[in-house]
Amino acid sequence: MSDHFDVIVIGAGPAGYVAAIRAAQLGLKTACIDERLGKDGKPAPGGACLNVGCIPSKALLDSSKHYHHVQHQYAAHGINVSGPVSMDVDTMLARKDKIVKQLTGGVKQLLKTNQVEFFCGRGKLLPERQVLITDADNQQQQLSGEHIILASGSIPIAIPNVEYDGQYIVDNEGALEFAQVPQRLGVIGAGVIGLELGSVWKRLGSEVILLEALDELLAAADQDIAKTAGREFKKQGMNIRLSTLVQGAQVINGEVIVKLETKDGEESITVDRLLVAVGRRANTTDLLADDTGVSINQRGQIEVDEHCRTSAENIWAIGDAVRGPMLAHKGSEEGIAVAETIAGQAGHVNLETVPWVIYTDPEIAWVGKTEQELQQAGVAYNSGSFPFAATGRGLAMGDASGMVKLLADAETDRLLGAHIIGPNASELIAECVVTMEFAGCAEDLARIVHAHPTLSEAVHEAALNADKRAIHRAN
Ligand code: FAD
Ligand code: AMP
Repeated sequence: MSDHFDVIVIGAGPAGYVAAIRAAQLGLKTACIDERLGKDGKPAPGGACLNVGCIPSKALLDSSKHYHHVQHQYAAHGINVSGPVSMDVDTMLARKDKIVKQLTGGVKQLLKTNQVEFFCGRGKLLPERQVLITDADNQQQQLSGEHIILASGSIPIAIPNVEYDGQYIVDNEGALEFAQVPQRLGVIGAGVIGLELGSVWKRLGSEVILLEALDELLAAADQDIAKTAGREFKKQGMNIRLSTLVQGAQVINGEVIVKLETKDGEESITVDRLLVAVGRRANTTDLLADDTGVSINQRGQIEVDEHCRTSAENIWAIGDAVRGPMLAHKGSEEGIAVAETIAGQAGHVNLETVPWVIYTDPEIAWVGKTEQELQQAGVAYNSGSFPFAATGRGLAMGDASGMVKLLADAETDRLLGAHIIGPNASELIAECVVTMEFAGCAEDLARIVHAHPTLSEAVHEAALNADKRAIHRAN
């Protein structure tokens, strides 16, 4: 087979493999390169998302949620679980690994079915759109492409004086693999990953201490939602320490001593395991040879324009390696847009309507502007909200904490932001994304028939409340 391709994609995460499949669907001869090997030593395309991110974290969140519900919620339904309930961590981890294997195997199969040629190895972009692949045995081969798509993803950020050792001080990968429930788990960073993985081990019995440098929780979220979240997490026994900057950590006799700087001065705490979850950075390590013409910006991301074009001709970059939210679905849509643009179509991704989800309990999801952003921009808006506690479905489920909050332009009524904390927020947000993408109004949501009894009625009522005419609450 010839080593010249229409499109070569480096990285098979949700950005890269989706770009490769779409390019192949459009009739382009496509190669996709990824170096990641699974636990069985075989190629494991799917990136951080399938291997050590979105999917394994959700698998553990669901297992730990069942465990927690058996202990704390079944009794209210009249279900008696006699005898002590225990968690077999090995079985939980094996279940997670099985799901990961099934999905990475599925990606391999999809690439094959779509006639994408897959290469397992490390790809490096050379000048003139040549790509050097080095496999695990150090064997090398070179491909050339009309177009190259860089989709090399991201890696965890490390902080000074806190060295990962894979056992006591870990990143997300290590926190998905604890063989036993740590008695005391320290988590640096109360962001999305810290809150999700902290929740897993808290539900399984760990004492979890979240150490957050900022003085507010979830600074990027609408602050009404963030405050509700803070109260809910506190009720669950999560110890969230704001304004707490971690300065260093050391493992001594099987314990981790963490040095903190707080408003009251310096302090140390001792934990059994420490998860560093202070964010991720674009992964461009050894990706580019000299003279490729691809620029990297000050934040270490591959510089791209609004169509994901880099500074070099016919070289594109997508996903976590470029600007914008580090979310799997954002990268996948960029992959599709770039493949379609290469094929002569009009690809586009609207970064303003990318939904965010945090899979804690309650779940948190949002799209568009927060109330504080609208205030800062001087935009006049109407706000409508509705608590799940006033929905029949939420009460029947026994899961009715949180609310829906919608923000609409005061003059045009156009939906500017939607913020949900509560059961199935991850699914409910889709309706708001569609409304915003279609430039819809709060009134559109208010006039659409929502099934009864459903959680989506909270979205409907919040839209009515934006016009002070909710039925099931005082306006
Ligand atoms: P990646 O998934 O990082 O994939 C890049 C791939 O490229 C990797 O497989 C890597 O091995 C390969 N690669 C890199 N360089 C080379 C090279 N030179 N040669 C060959 N191969 C290379 N996002 C969500 O949307 N929802 C979630 O619920 C969610 N949960 C998360 C939970 C955790 C714990 C973490 C860590 C992340 C989570 N994310 C979530 C973020 C999500 O995983 C990323 O946004 C997404 O994986 C980015 O996709 P990507 O394709 O850009 O990069
Ligand atoms: P996210 O960007 O969602 O992954 O969240 C990472 C969080 O880590 C942010 O809220 C940061 O404020 C926080 N953070 C970064 N560095 C430190 C540090 N040294 N100590 C405590 N928190 C930190």
